[in-house]
Parts: sequence; structure tokens; C-alpha cells
Amino acid sequence: MEYASSLLGLLPGGRRTPGLKELLGTVGSYLPAEQVGRIREAAEFGTSVHRGQKRLSGEPFIAHPVAAASILADLHLDADTIVAAILHDVIEDTPTPKDQLAARFGADVAEIVDGVTKLDQIKFKSREEAQAESFRKMLLAMVRDLRVILVKLADRTHNMRTIQAMAPARRRAIARETLEIYAPIAERLGLYNMKLELEDLGFKALYPRRYQVLERALKRARGNQKEFLKKIEQQLNAALMKAEIAAHVETREKHLYSIYRKMRRKRALLGEIVDVYGLRIIVDRPDTCYRALGAVHSVFKPMPGRFKDYIAIPRANGYQSLHTTLFGPNGVPIEAQIRTGDMHRVAEAGIAAHWRYKSGGDSGSTQQERTREWISNLVSLQEAGTSEEFLESVKVDLFPDKVYVFTPKGQILRLPSGATVVDFAYAVHTDIGHHCVGAKVNGKLVPLRYTLRQGDILEIVTSPTQHPSRDWLKIVKSNRARAK
Ligand code: MN
Repeated sequence: MEYASSLLGLLPGGRRTPGLKELLGTVGSYLPAEQVGRIREAAEFGTSVHRGQKRLSGEPFIAHPVAAASILADLHLDADTIVAAILHDVIEDTPTPKDQLAARFGADVAEIVDGVTKLDQIKFKSREEAQAESFRKMLLAMVRDLRVILVKLADRTHNMRTIQAMAPARRRAIARETLEIYAPIAERLGLYNMKLELEDLGFKALYPRRYQVLERALKRARGNQKEFLKKIEQQLNAALMKAEIAAHVETREKHLYSIYRKMRRKRALLGEIVDVYGLRIIVDRPDTCYRALGAVHSVFKPMPGRFKDYIAIPRANGYQSLHTTLFGPNGVPIEAQIRTGDMHRVAEAGIAAHWRYKSGGDSGSTQQERTREWISNLVSLQEAGTSEEFLESVKVDLFPDKVYVFTPKGQILRLPSGATVVDFAYAVHTDIGHHCVGAKVNGKLVPLRYTLRQGDILEIVTSPTQHPSRDWLKIVKSNRARAK
């Protein structure tokens, strides 16, 4: 099953949900038979525990987790991730306890499913940008194993593909959460195709009319320019051949949501959006990229100031390519990306590349080792001068020393991990701190010394006769509360 690399993939009916047979076929192409056996067993188990449950579309429920697993199988993820994806709704939607999953499918699988279940219990409500960023961080902080996020993203992708079955209000809420939270997380993890798909599906569900109008206009424009692009492709191929460079040239279409966003940002008409069209040139080796760049510039002049060398200075998520914008025939701008096949695979899979199954090799390496490897990879990239901000956020996210909790109004507060009710009360307001006697956490009364957990919703109970006590120093973690 392929991601939509063209608009056609997003048309209704243009995509079929892959079944178990396709999933087993895909995993059979890269995993050894014994692992495929585990995956089959997980599917049988999932089918039996979800028996009788249906999706809103009327399909048997198991079709959903199998489709989510297929999305991850296309990224060649390891067997634990695929098994966890198949079982991702088992704890939440069936009476199966976590222990049973651990005994049958291993501790890693049980942890991943448990992590996905916890993420599902938290819903994003606000529309503020700062709040969205905290929410994204909170989700990442809750996760000790990044495979939890990969499964969650696959889950969300399949839910978005089938969102038509939902009631309109629910559809809008899910679409907004997808655009504001999950698509940016996919982008941050370098899962570029997934990000594009989530954005286009979210855009379509949130603004169906705008989507339709833009889709039609774009189709018309593309129909008119097909010939034109073909000619450009031929000219480039000829120039590359003349320079004796073996290359594969393909045309690339911008996705609807990014065009829409650009039109809004620049208040521009469709025809004025610079890089609606693009080309990609794939070659064998990094140094060939630069030679190909020379060949391309000999045919079409580059637009000044638009060249970017992400090979010498990769993006923080590992992305590498040369970017240049060309003056095409009649001065039409064309954005070109030049990269090797390896760079292309990283661009497609992002962080998932680190959990890919490799035959032989690193089967012994643990989760922590792989995460450390990923981090150190980022650190060395950063030394080459890329986004410090991203690195900083990832450090916070992966080694959570912070706990994210909600006020009753849904505002998110970040406190040091180990923080108690008293820390929270002082973070809200000094007076509330001074007079707090307890709190309701997720609706249940707890004492002041209660240690906050990720995603808790707190409501402080105060009393005018209460005053701060010296004993509180023993239970507070934040400097603010201590000082008060
Ligand atoms: Mn699900």
C-alpha cells in the first residue's frame, strides 16, 4: 500500500483498506518467517478479542488495527511495532489486561500498547498555538518508547482515512487535533509522507468546500501544464545524460494543504504560489548530487537566494537534499530537489528508519541504545549547525524530567517531575497555594502530598483558614513553591 504521492490517492474510493493478507505479504517481504508467525498470532488474538465489535463504517473492528499495522509495515518497522499496532486498542476496548499481553507477546509490546492507551485518554481542546506546542511536548514526554508515537500516528492516519463515517462535530474535532497536534509531530519526527497525508485529510475534513474548490482548480492547472512539465523533464534528462550522470527525474506535486496555507499566508492566488510544481532528481552518490546540480543549472538558470545545501548541513531530523528553484520556460519557477536513494529513504521514513528491521545485525540492541543512537545522531547533526531548538525539545521530550498537567479549564502547566498538589497550587496562584487543603485529581480527592502524573486534571480545594506549613517544604519540588 502506498502513501498518496498524488492527489488521486486522496480521492474517495481511490484507496482500499489493506486486509490481513496484504499485511502478512508486506511483513513477509522483510521479516523472517518466525516473526511473521508472531504477527499472524497477534492478528488471530486481536480478531478473537474484538469479535462482535464494529467500526462506525460497519466493518469488523479488527480491520482498523490491521490497517494501522500495514501503514507501519510499509515503513519496514520491527515485529514488536507491528504486533503492538495490531493490538493497540485491545487494552482500551476489550477486557484484556496488560499482563496478559506481556505474557503472550512480550513486555515491549505490552508497554507500547499501554502507552498508546494512555495517549488516547488525553484530548486536545484549545486552539491556541502555545497550548498546541505544550500539548505536543506533553504527548512526547509521556512516551518512553518512540514506537508508541509511531503506532499512535498510524492509528490516527487510518482514522483520518475513514473519518467520513463519523458525525460532523466529532469529525471536525478530530480533524483539528490532527492538523494542530499529530501532523506537526509527524513532521518533527521526519515522517514526511505521513505528515502530508494527515494534513490533506485534516484539511478535507475540516473545510470540505475549500478543499473541493482548490482541488478542482489545481486539477485544471495541472491538466494544462502536463505537456509543459514533460518537456522540462526531457530537457533535464538530456542535460544529465550529456554530463554522464545516471539519474532518475520525477515530477513532484505540492499537496493541497500546503498550497492552501501558502495562499492564505501570502494572500495570493493559486497561480501566484511559487512552487506548486517541483522536480526531484535521484542519483547514486552524494558527490553526484552536486554534479547534477551543475547540469540542471546549465539548462535552467537558478533563482538567486533560493539554493539550500541540506547535504552539507542536514536538517535536525536527518533530512538531506539539495534544494534549488529554477526559472523554467517562460520564467515559470520550478523547485528542484536533488538527493541520493539513501537520502530519499530517510526523507520518506524519518525517525521510523531507526526502528526498521535489519536482518542479522542489531537485533540485540535495546530500546535505550537505539534511542541514544538517535539522539547522538541528532547531536552530531547539530554540531554541523542545525536547529538547536528541535534538539532541545527532543531532549526534554525523551528524558522526561517534567510533568504536564491540566487546570480544570484545560490550560497545561509544566512542573518538575515529582511535583505535588502544593507545587501545582502555587503555579496557579500564590493565594491558592497559601490556602490549599487538597485537590481533586481527575475527579477524585487526593491529599496535598499526591505526586502528579502526566495528563492529570487538577482542581485545587482551598480553605480560608488554611495556612502554609513548614512541612510543605518536604513535599514541594518547584523553586517557586519553595520560595513562597
Ligand atoms: Mn485505534
